[in-house]
Amino acid sequence: MKIAGDTHTHTLLCQHAYSTLLENIRAAAAAGHRFMATTEHGPAMPGAPHEWYFENLRKAVPREMLGVVVIKGCEADVMDLAGTLDVPESGLRKLDLVIASMHRLTFPQDTTPEERTAAWCAVAENPRVDVIGHLGDPRFEADYETVIRAFRKGGQAVELNASSPVSRPGSEKNCLRIAALCKEYGVPLLLSSDAHFCTSIGEVGPSAAIAQEAGVPEEQILNLDYRRFRDWLCARQGIEDLPEE
Ligand SMILES: [Zn+2]
Ligand SMILES: [Zn+2]
Repeated sequence: MKIAGDTHTHTLLCQHAYSTLLENIRAAAAAGHRFMATTEHGPAMPGAPHEWYFENLRKAVPREMLGVVVIKGCEADVMDLAGTLDVPESGLRKLDLVIASMHRLTFPQDTTPEERTAAWCAVAENPRVDVIGHLGDPRFEADYETVIRAFRKGGQAVELNASSPVSRPGSEKNCLRIAALCKEYGVPLLLSSDAHFCTSIGEVGPSAAIAQEAGVPEEQILNLDYRRFRDWLCARQGIEDLPEE
């Protein structure tokens, strides 16, 4: 499986990643990708950019560089059981793509799977959320059948995050189940690297292996094709300046 663009990448602006945006774009161009999403951590993550970063991103950064369409996004933190995100609504409205993720440093400790299921169902009702980040994290297990049905209703895509086997040990089993449920319920998937250095851009091998093992049809994986990803995103967020091809 060859992706047309990476949908989850970080830059040194979050202070625990180490490449610039332009270095990431160069890596995407060198890999022959048509697009790349830059998805910085939300402001609640220690070291992450101020909320102004998200307000200014679309205006400040060109839409296309080196033949790579730049998707201006964020990886917002789910902050509580009501599904509140740390990027304010005014910022979310100015972005192309919003990933929502649960992280150890920003999501309440000692929650139950039932509580996390309720939190994800609340996130699914937020029309600004496009992608569910690293859902298979074993520290945040939920009732996957219930949440994936909620994401189908909300129109979100679910990412298979290639960093999970290393960063979130024990994820594979959950990711395989999540991929199978997405296949069953027709929820679109993304293969993403979660790169924290430019040499990882487009490195989605472990995600592709899981999608393959689950028997997910290629048409269901949005970022294997630029046009498929673009049309899905434009239909969700009404973006008017994304090139058609
Ligand atoms: Zn990170
Ligand atoms: Zn994350």
